Amino acid sequence: MNNENLYVTLKAGFPADAAAPALETADAVRYTYGDLDRASARFAGVITNLGLRPGDRVVVQVEKSPEALFLYLACLRAGVVFVPLNTAYQRAELAYFLGDAQPSLVVCRPAAEEAMRAIAGEAGVAHVLTLGEAGDGSLADAARSRPEDFATVSRAGDDLAAILYTSGTTGRSKGAMLTHDNLASNARTLVAYWGFRHGDVLLHALPIFHAHGLFVACHCALLNGSPMLWLPRFDVDAVMKLLPRATVFMGVPTFYTRLLEQPDFGRDTIPAMRLFISGSAPLLAETHREFEARTGHAILERYGMTETVMLTSNPLDAARRAGTVGFPLPGVAVRIADGEGRALPNGEIGHVQVRGPNVFPGYWRMPEKTREEFTADGFFRTGDLGKIDERGYVVLVGRSKDLIITGGYNVYPKEIESYIDEIAGVKESAVIGLPHRDFGEAVAAVIVPEPGAALHDADVIGTLKGELANFKVPKQVFFLDELPRNAMGKVQKNLLRDRFAGAGA
Ligand code: AMP
Repeated sequence: MNNENLYVTLKAGFPADAAAPALETADAVRYTYGDLDRASARFAGVITNLGLRPGDRVVVQVEKSPEALFLYLACLRAGVVFVPLNTAYQRAELAYFLGDAQPSLVVCRPAAEEAMRAIAGEAGVAHVLTLGEAGDGSLADAARSRPEDFATVSRAGDDLAAILYTSGTTGRSKGAMLTHDNLASNARTLVAYWGFRHGDVLLHALPIFHAHGLFVACHCALLNGSPMLWLPRFDVDAVMKLLPRATVFMGVPTFYTRLLEQPDFGRDTIPAMRLFISGSAPLLAETHREFEARTGHAILERYGMTETVMLTSNPLDAARRAGTVGFPLPGVAVRIADGEGRALPNGEIGHVQVRGPNVFPGYWRMPEKTREEFTADGFFRTGDLGKIDERGYVVLVGRSKDLIITGGYNVYPKEIESYIDEIAGVKESAVIGLPHRDFGEAVAAVIVPEPGAALHDADVIGTLKGELANFKVPKQVFFLDELPRNAMGKVQKNLLRDRFAGAGA
């Protein structure tokens, strides 16, 4: 049997010269592909030496560092299941994740060791090790005495490589199981679709506890044998400093709006750049336009989710259309279905359902939930609403749980937001449904004004009345200085609904 371990797939793309650069940090510390292979071998040695077996889980809550990436690769190599956690998670959340994932090893930040040991003890976790931002800690200490080579454990394509907890804003967070084959097939597709080539340099400023930074960005670079300029987080000054050397940049929309706020950001700062990619949250059409006017680059927007990795992408060599997420990737089937599961024709809005080698097999230890989320013919219900336009581009209009039903009519928040965003003085907006005694839900808008703009709710409502059917016009308008967003730049509409639920109506 072939070894279908993802590390073997990635390694086949490493440069022949082990001295070729793999990572460079903001302090100009460089790691070669040889360093990466040896460091991941040593970490894998520590993991197996503790007695962990293929299939055992390793929960990792550490700061982003080169060593954190080596630890991910080490878990692949040892055949254990990598379970990264957002560094923001606190005690109660950690207790839930450890209880659910039942790991054999937890790796945490040195400063968090005592607290983590207490939680791990309660969850019956056998081992706790530490890894610091500077590559320090007990895991690194133990790795020093391990050999610098390691025979990557043989895995089948459908064995688990990772479990990523979804950033679900309702109910319990679910562990999405991803197999070696889910990740390898998607990585191969993306490298080809986005034209990765010799000479590419990826600027990596995303967190690596999420699919975007960990899988999409790292796998493309590693499979292509390219160097990554490795920043611990998105810091606009550090990004500006490294941008001149990068050929590819991947970000969430807020990265792009932050860059546009820099007066000296423009063509001169990106001489080598060939591709800007955006995803994880909707990129405003206005940002797309402004970015292109400033830099000459049309940002390539793509769509994916934790459970499926990447699903659709705007094309490399054809029109990248603002406000769309492009075409289904090769091998991925995307269809739009109505409430009863019947496929809808192009142009009609419905539920986005997907199938392909990238789609996960299910939620960890939640067979019921998994069954509910797949159709009889094997399509995954993404929970997103969208349509396929006349040119075949997929357009998303929001999450189905954000759909507003007012007096029996469906209102898609994105449609209303796009009208509000056109009003002079509006920076951005979020449209939500609030409980209403007559209509069930009433449309409400939360608006962030441009600095210094004097906007009034009556004027906003008056403008929209001339453009939209009455049932779509917000009954109430609220103003905020900024919208609440999670680490991936997604607007947290549940927080807005909670905050404004009692306000009027
Ligand atoms: P996550 O599992 O955290 O990656 O979140 C996945 C969700 O993010 C998707 O189901 C979409 O709702 C949203 N998403 C990802 N990419 C885009 C995009 N380009 N435009 C709009 N929404 C997106």
